[in-house]
Amino acid sequence: MAKQVILKRPPQGSLRYGHPWIYRNQIKEASIEVCPGDVVDVVTESGKFLGRAYWNPKSQISLRVLTRKEEAIDAFFFQRRFSKALESRRQTVRETNSFRLVSSEADGLPGLIVDRYEDVLVVQFLTLGMECLKEIVLKALTECVPHKGIFERSDASVRKLEDLPERVGWIEKHCGDVTVLTEKDIQVELRFGEGHKTGWYLDQRENRFLMREMASGGEALDVFCYEGGFGLQLAKAGMRVLGIESQKDAVERAQTHRTANGIDAEKFTFQTSNAFDALKDLEKSGRKFDLIVLDPPSFVKQKTALQPALSGYKELMLRGFRMMNEGGKLAVFSCAYHLDDHFLMQASLAAAQDARRSLKLLKFMKQSSDHPIDPFIAETYYLKGFLFEVSGS
Ligand code: SAH
Repeated sequence: MAKQVILKRPPQGSLRYGHPWIYRNQIKEASIEVCPGDVVDVVTESGKFLGRAYWNPKSQISLRVLTRKEEAIDAFFFQRRFSKALESRRQTVRETNSFRLVSSEADGLPGLIVDRYEDVLVVQFLTLGMECLKEIVLKALTECVPHKGIFERSDASVRKLEDLPERVGWIEKHCGDVTVLTEKDIQVELRFGEGHKTGWYLDQRENRFLMREMASGGEALDVFCYEGGFGLQLAKAGMRVLGIESQKDAVERAQTHRTANGIDAEKFTFQTSNAFDALKDLEKSGRKFDLIVLDPPSFVKQKTALQPALSGYKELMLRGFRMMNEGGKLAVFSCAYHLDDHFLMQASLAAAQDARRSLKLLKFMKQSSDHPIDPFIAETYYLKGFLFEVSGS
């Protein structure tokens, strides 16, 4: 008989309608031979099959459903999922050689991230269940996706919740230690194993392209610029850009990218400082900008910490609005799931009111389409942004 986990009661909709998480308190019992990390059948008390999931009793989310069909979780299962994911990227990814190929729950593969940088795959195993399936995952990847190397970047903090240690290093290597990522005519040299996330904020690519379309030739401010994702595009489009970033090594790499892309040093300058202090000083000095990007890190990890995050956003936007030339564009993003569109708009309106500016919302923005959103899994929609035209200065 298959290994089973029995639920206390039929799930109230969530599982039925496609949410793959089952919490510890929804579970009645696991059959005796089930070990942490195992793939199990999820059944009701009356024995009705609900789906196939992997099990980690140590995690609050003790089951993550892989399928609602009675199908084997083998290399062929992963190949089917990978082919589907690849096909959707073929349809949506443009003007780059690097993208997210597998985005965990949103691609029906909870706990697995696969990013493709040119011809190298960077993989992240985020859960014990997916870690236990690693061998067949890699086998299926090798079958489906031609590549010259696989680099493991399993250093995300969520692994701690699953009691997993960090692991970073090559799994397979027929390539160099660096890759050149392209976004439109920008080229960025990245070293595997370095930088945030898997090396680059791939999720902002489409928004960078949009901002480039908005570039007007004047002055731009790229706040929380990291390695210059937005600023490089804006400078290439003829704007003079000031990047603000607190991490020295990120600024150094941004400067290297600037030089490699033939952008004059005075066209893209940097301040290595806390953005809140830098914006205060810039405002005091009377600087004005035609385009501002505010792309802060996730200030909110939990629902309970929303208030301080809102004040933070309000302060950033207040200063941004005050430094805006008439008709200028301001883009603001939140990459925190809990800080949603509604809260971001609330902070935007409060800031605009205080700065006495009127706003026109030119665009709703979201994560790039290689980070798909499954509307039945709310958590898959995490990055949102507004692009405002600001007047009344
Ligand atoms: N815009 C970037 C991604 C930004 S991620 C891109 O398109 O690639 C957020 C960045 O903010 C990180 O690089 C982080 O180092 C930086 N950061 C975090 N807190 C900061 C602070 N208080 N002041 C300035 N930078 C900060």
